[in-house]
Amino acid sequence: MTATKAFAAMSAKGKLEPYTFERRDLRSDDVGFRIDFSGICHTDIHQAREEWGEANFPMVPGHEFVGTVTSVGSGVSKFKTGDRIGVGVFIDSCRNCKNCLNGLQQYCLEGYTDTYNAYERNTKQIAYGGYSNYFVIPESYAYKLPANLDMAAMAPLLCAGITTYSPLKKWKVGPGSNVAVAGLGGLGHMAVKFAIALGANVTVLSHSDAKEKDARAFGAIDFIDTGKADWHLGYQKSFDLILNTVSAHLDLEPYLSTLATDGSLIVIGVPSEPFSMGAGSLLDGRRSVSGSLIGGIPETQEMLDFCGANNIVSEVEVISADYINEAYDRTVASDVRYRFVIDCSTF
Ligand code: NAP
Ligand code: ZN
Repeated sequence: MTATKAFAAMSAKGKLEPYTFERRDLRSDDVGFRIDFSGICHTDIHQAREEWGEANFPMVPGHEFVGTVTSVGSGVSKFKTGDRIGVGVFIDSCRNCKNCLNGLQQYCLEGYTDTYNAYERNTKQIAYGGYSNYFVIPESYAYKLPANLDMAAMAPLLCAGITTYSPLKKWKVGPGSNVAVAGLGGLGHMAVKFAIALGANVTVLSHSDAKEKDARAFGAIDFIDTGKADWHLGYQKSFDLILNTVSAHLDLEPYLSTLATDGSLIVIGVPSEPFSMGAGSLLDGRRSVSGSLIGGIPETQEMLDFCGANNIVSEVEVISADYINEAYDRTVASDVRYRFVIDCSTF
């Protein structure tokens, strides 16, 4: 066992606080690593504050983190000591179902094992995530990181990156596609970068007009302030794809009206309240609403390699552990440019 320093939520209402626990020893197929940087995803906040229903406390959040390999099990071939390594939203899955065998572990028919707020598959021990300084994971559920990118700026790729890359690929975004990204936060700004790298014309739909300059600097050709009444009227039937990364409840109707024929709105953000929409909004133009959940192991590695080849990273504000609670409040207030990342040497 390895003594590990972390920050944990002890209840839904309290603040995160310093916490220590023992990480399990390595099995033969495991890799042990020092966590260097861990991103703060809005999902961490939804879960630590129990916005999605029952949560397991103490909860050590964190499901997008990178580090340096310190030890490997006897059967490990993918990593060696000193390698860069990344971990995302799941640490295991059934490995046998149709989806796991097809590299869609995020849709494991038994349900994947979450990196935190879950129980480890073998040990049934509570899984503690990446707001900590040491991690153990089966090698096949960890990722190789490009050598040319900054470590802190890569951490968010493991969730915000793959979650936005995957639907852009699935819906075949390429040169000439008209893509709108709703919500310019941690996920949204990665969506903008990826869509532009794939050749799309990108419009940002944001309720924070102060973000327009950044959106255009990322390469967006247009910026719509969704805080303005009737913002959608000038954009009817415009977009082939809308990625909705907004963490709060939205009235989808105005967004649907801006979809072109056969256009799709992809639900990525996970507010607590259900969406509602009129049938007519879908019938007109054969529009659809779909969802997309992170990405599987092969596609996550593909995304990381794509980032290495195209010099794509997240815009990050690196913080020390004692700033996590302020970072949560600022994230909820849409006041982060564009992802908080914890320097895990400060635990
Ligand atoms: P984030 O950094 O907080 O970004 C969310 C953005 O939503 C904000 O920057 C803001 O953009 C917009 N927003 C927030 N409150 C709003 C409001 N009241 N009205 C209108 N717009 C509002 O969060 P994130 O980490 O990117 O995560 C976004 C969502 O995706 C969360 O719900 C998270 O749980 C979910 N998520 C889903 C997956 C998946 O696999 N599907 C994976 C990871 C995260 P503007 O300031 O530009 O308006
Ligand atoms: Zn996440």
